[in-house]
Amino acid sequence: MVDRNGWGRDRPVPTGSPRSPPDWFARQANVTDEEIYETFERDWPDCWERAADLLSWDEPYDTVLNDENAPFYEWFGGGKLNAAYNCVDRHLEAGRKNHVAIRWEGKHGEHETYTYRDLYVEVNEFAAALRGLGVEEDDVVTIYLPMIPALPIAMLACARIGAPHSVVFAGLSADALATRMDAAESEYLITCDGYYRRGDAFNQKSKADNARLSVEQDVETVVVDRLGDDLPHVLGDDERDYHDLCREYAGETVDPVSRDAEDMLFLMYTSGTTGEPKGVVHATGGYLAHVAWTSHAVLDITPEDTYWCAADIGWITGHSYIVYGPLALGTTAVMYEGTPDYPDRDRLWEIVDRNAVDVFYTAPTAIRAFMKWGSDYPDRHDLSSLRLLGSVGEPISPRPWNWYREHIGRGDCPVVDTWWQTETGAVIVSTLPGIDEMKPGAAGPGLPGIDVAVVDEAGDPVEPGQAGYLTIGRPWPGMARTLYDGDDRFRSEYWDRFSDPDRDEWVYFSGDAAAIDEDGYVTVLGRIDDVINVSGRRLSTMEIESAITDVDGVAEAAVVGRSSEATGTEIYAYVSTAGGHDPDATIRQRIVDSIESTIGPIAKPSEIVFTPELPKTRSGKIMRRLLEDIANGEDLGDTSSLRNPEIVGEIQAESGTE
Ligand code: ATP
Ligand code: MG
Repeated sequence: MVDRNGWGRDRPVPTGSPRSPPDWFARQANVTDEEIYETFERDWPDCWERAADLLSWDEPYDTVLNDENAPFYEWFGGGKLNAAYNCVDRHLEAGRKNHVAIRWEGKHGEHETYTYRDLYVEVNEFAAALRGLGVEEDDVVTIYLPMIPALPIAMLACARIGAPHSVVFAGLSADALATRMDAAESEYLITCDGYYRRGDAFNQKSKADNARLSVEQDVETVVVDRLGDDLPHVLGDDERDYHDLCREYAGETVDPVSRDAEDMLFLMYTSGTTGEPKGVVHATGGYLAHVAWTSHAVLDITPEDTYWCAADIGWITGHSYIVYGPLALGTTAVMYEGTPDYPDRDRLWEIVDRNAVDVFYTAPTAIRAFMKWGSDYPDRHDLSSLRLLGSVGEPISPRPWNWYREHIGRGDCPVVDTWWQTETGAVIVSTLPGIDEMKPGAAGPGLPGIDVAVVDEAGDPVEPGQAGYLTIGRPWPGMARTLYDGDDRFRSEYWDRFSDPDRDEWVYFSGDAAAIDEDGYVTVLGRIDDVINVSGRRLSTMEIESAITDVDGVAEAAVVGRSSEATGTEIYAYVSTAGGHDPDATIRQRIVDSIESTIGPIAKPSEIVFTPELPKTRSGKIMRRLLEDIANGEDLGDTSSLRNPEIVGEIQAESGTE
């Protein structure tokens, strides 16, 4: 086949040796029917009723999918439901009122346990309080809270009264908060005095105050007192204390508002890895059905499980897989306030051990850190309760995948590598852990009913093993309904590139590059911009990075292109070593050898820069965009939105591009 996109590859993307799901897992898995892929194909789109059936509807829907106004699809039209009712009340009605909904683990070793009944009481009180403040159905409520119980409680209280929430990650700046409040014309803000970062009290309220000064509208504010005497604060006239307010409404209940399936449940911004974050709108019915279904089918969650997603609720992963999916299924969800290395690097394993966690879901950035710290930390604890491990957020190459399975999963737990986006709402590509073989380094096939394809410039499927654009060819229930900036931007970001509106053919473009193998397994290669052109050959930065991280002693790597007159582009590799040690004399050579033997001499970096850490977004993704600017000696602009801005100067000094 002619390689129209020029991303020629003559060999398949390397993945590790395939592994079958262990029998003990397959026997107990939620989804074991191997025909499920065919069944979903045959019945599409009605197959998605299976997801909707996991929910309780106030009124049944009359159409599964309405595609008349594509790409503005509607799912479960005519149906009515309430997300908070589905995540809380119905579990009480099912006689599970004393079942634990949330186990909260505080920064300083505090624990709090919320049964479904506790959650019911608190969500109702806060919903009544919001009403009392004047919040009406469809008013956008901004929530700017760290990982404390008031965060999911506030989200569910909003959902209960039909007020869409817009959660802004607590670590973002006052400016970021103000921009998001302005965009949504949000007149209500739930925040806190501060929170603990490592050992220190960190002032959140001053950021919220600054944001409020710069938004146009008046903002009613509720402040959660998290720090008490560690950080005294004073409330202004338009500010209310969260706990006082809940006391004022103690014992009150609010009927859950019956929402149309298509009514907005929330607004959520993307991570901003590739540019300005995009404000994504999610609808109630399709989103909740899709997250419940994938929590059931991919994460294999049952109500009896103790399940832990170690993400932050301030990102989509936390919305879908800490709050809405797990609670819709009535499971016990762990929620952790702290960081993995405080007070020590075994903190997460101590929590898994003490809570007997069954299913654990985290990001490659964390897994690479665990690997860098070494297996002594997990080895201190009993992790035998674990049944399934998950990964999300970035590609995970075979070495960390294997390490995760070996040292956290006893060499026995299945690992699901789940590809999805803020815009997709829920998992799109993954293996079904009870059925499918796992291939380390490949996420898996599209889920049943999901039509993923890797295509060339012209939109035609590429040959197996070739790189191309990752697209989704049919709608799915959890999909974004639009962007907050407007329908035009929604169309131009995701639909215009590969759709043919004249023929009413709609294809969603993810912005990611990927390859697909003969079995339909997708390996995500990164963003389309992460493919660099060296002497006319297109190379995936992820593939080079994977060759680098294969080298013993390497923890993480990021590869970017630097413009060069000679070859068009040169390869710059940024590498951090295991244990943060100084690289020994041989490591440079071993990196070059590994690249040359797995990819070829053409991929040899012209510069390898060692750094203690790579720059990361707040959601933990490697910021290649910034490294590329560093390599090219360009102006970096504002780097304060990084998780570790202090590293930038160090890397510049090392690269000689200060
Ligand atoms: P922005 O869209 O603002 O640049 P972002 O894309 O990082 O930010 P998210 O929606 O949080 O914001 O992340 C989705 C992206 O994360 C995907 O497009 C993909 O690049 C990456 N990703 C998520 N899960 C995986 C995975 N399992 N394998 C590979 N990449 C993944
Ligand atoms: Mg994105």
